[in-house]
Amino acid sequence: MIIVMRPDAAELDLQAVTDLIASLALTAHVSRGAERTIVGVVGAPDDKEMLLAQFAQLDGVESVVPISRSYKLVSREGRGERTIVRVRDGIAFGGAELAVAAGPCSVESREQLQATAGAVARAGANLLRGGAFKPRTSPYAFQGLGEEGLKYLRAAADTAGLAVVTEVLDVRDVELVAKYADLLQIGARNMQNFGLLREVGGVRKPVLLKRGLSATIEEWLMAAEYVYVAGNHDIVLCERGIRSYDQSTRNLLDLTAVPVLRQLTHLPVIVDPSHGTGVRSLVAPMSLAAVAAGADGLLVEVHPNPAAAKSDGPQSLTLANFADLMARLAPVALAVGRALPARAVAA
Ligand code: PEP
Ligand code: MN
Repeated sequence: MIIVMRPDAAELDLQAVTDLIASLALTAHVSRGAERTIVGVVGAPDDKEMLLAQFAQLDGVESVVPISRSYKLVSREGRGERTIVRVRDGIAFGGAELAVAAGPCSVESREQLQATAGAVARAGANLLRGGAFKPRTSPYAFQGLGEEGLKYLRAAADTAGLAVVTEVLDVRDVELVAKYADLLQIGARNMQNFGLLREVGGVRKPVLLKRGLSATIEEWLMAAEYVYVAGNHDIVLCERGIRSYDQSTRNLLDLTAVPVLRQLTHLPVIVDPSHGTGVRSLVAPMSLAAVAAGADGLLVEVHPNPAAAKSDGPQSLTLANFADLMARLAPVALAVGRALPARAVAA
């Protein structure tokens, strides 16, 4: 159930609502929006009807909305407005401006990161991506540089004025990754790692939650609910393709998920056309399509020399490809009432 407070509700009214929730052994999740505060109530009350009436009578309460969906706090009804996830000064997901994260699949060296960060920043990206902890199918494949990689990421991003998004693979590394990253990525293979979801739910850094390889949209939103209910409300969803029978692309990029999610959740949604297609030549067209479909941003793999990449070279754009993509993205963004990241306009 969601309790919507009136715009003029006092702090004491809110307190009375959360006190009543606590006295019933239920849990309150307060989200303060620009207009209104909304209280999500989680738990299994004995008599739902009576409870609805009881809350509706309290001072400052505008309405009480029962939510029958399995995910509640991340549902569209769970918040009166779209969530804008602010990563840091001027970098946000879900506003009028898009957020664009670009960088290599894996962090390989200081030089690779510096070359990439400078170029993607000039082309208009506002976040630098790169994996320091890599989820590889084979235990013999390159596993990432670990903390050394995080240091290269942070340094290159700071020089170029970018924020950092990088994957955290293991509960034991959450604190370490959070020390260097601005946005914590939960990869497709970990979408239902509930221990990891709970752990990042307790961190004060936003989370980028990728869709699982074969996850339904409902399972994905339930995964987001784990993070939300654990206390972290800054969640960005990332569509990255799902398994299909068709072998012509690495995955089947489900762009339908973008408008579907806009109907089902208040959380921002971005698209990763690199893992979504696995094919360099398909990354630009699917990026344009993603923005046209309403995505709040993109996550794109870019490498100074894709042929020499330690992972995902075939789907990585060159620095020049990426600059070209950003130039082509601007009119598409404009056509759907969005804009490139502000720094892209300034550059
Ligand atoms: C990545 O973005 O680096 C990655 C490994 O993606 P995914 O989890 O979507 O496979
Ligand atoms: Mn990759």
